[in-house]
Amino acid sequence: MMSSRGVFLAQAGGGRPRVRGRARTPAGRDGGCPVWPPSGRREARPRRTTLAAELRPASDCVVFPKLAEKKKFAFLRELQQFHTLVALFYNFGKSWKSDPGIIKASEEQKKKTIVELAETGSLDLSIFCSTCLIRKPVRSKHCAVCNRCIAKFDHHCPWVGNCVGSGNHRYFMGYLFFLLCMICWMIYGCICYWRIHCATTYTKDGFWTYVTQIATCSSWMFWMFLNSVFHFMWVVVLIMCQIYQIACLGITTNERMNARRYKHFKVTSTSIESPFNHGCFRNLIDFFELRCCGLFRPVVVDWTTQHSIDYDQTSGSGYQLV
Ligand SMILES: [Zn+2]
Ligand SMILES: [Zn+2]
Repeated sequence: MMSSRGVFLAQAGGGRPRVRGRARTPAGRDGGCPVWPPSGRREARPRRTTLAAELRPASDCVVFPKLAEKKKFAFLRELQQFHTLVALFYNFGKSWKSDPGIIKASEEQKKKTIVELAETGSLDLSIFCSTCLIRKPVRSKHCAVCNRCIAKFDHHCPWVGNCVGSGNHRYFMGYLFFLLCMICWMIYGCICYWRIHCATTYTKDGFWTYVTQIATCSSWMFWMFLNSVFHFMWVVVLIMCQIYQIACLGITTNERMNARRYKHFKVTSTSIESPFNHGCFRNLIDFFELRCCGLFRPVVVDWTTQHSIDYDQTSGSGYQLV
């Protein structure tokens, strides 16, 4: 019975007969995925080569190791990695540079707002920003870092260097998702590298010997793996927290943290009742503005001008049906 390790290496050998245990083909000689050791004899450590030369065999075998042997399917490997990378940088760029929902007003509008609020006796800080001198829309908050009011403010993210609000929250979620995909790629790539390049296995040598061997086999790869695992943990926590708030609670991070400050939330010791929560399915459709070729009709709200929680979902004065 051939072991899974033997099968993997034999498949990576590129069309040659399968062999038991380690494959005995030279690294990359016939275009297939190279294996370690390059000859039949065992060596304690791989040869010292440049970093690029070390990474190349690993990247060749990371995606679709069987299909990659066939030239006509080789493009799938690059295509998958390329799309993940492009989507990651696109969503990061949009989170970083796009308008998060800045509430703008001219000097004339500011004077008019102050006079109107003063005459009606409602010039209080719950609806008026004394820094921006504007009437704050519902769900907005003044960002102390950026010194501006943001519509549907979620939080200020130092990681993307921008506020996360109504204008870029979807892109921020896309950034987290593709960042998680990229981290998984990194972890998978590291594991493939060790299987190919390091003359040790977990089952044969035990846990501590295995860890020591892979750490000395390529310290750079080991460092990359530790970094990936660290970032994997906090990104998973963050994206799960965000999805829970968006889909299940229908509130932002700011509203969840400061729910008692806002009159329109009913807060108990165990739950927060939000007037913006329309059910998990509807919340997701509205948040991501999913249309699916006309199958859904998301309710799109201009949160920069929405000053009331009394939504009219049919007239277009509040929620606007698309
Ligand atoms: Zn403000
Ligand atoms: Zn900010």
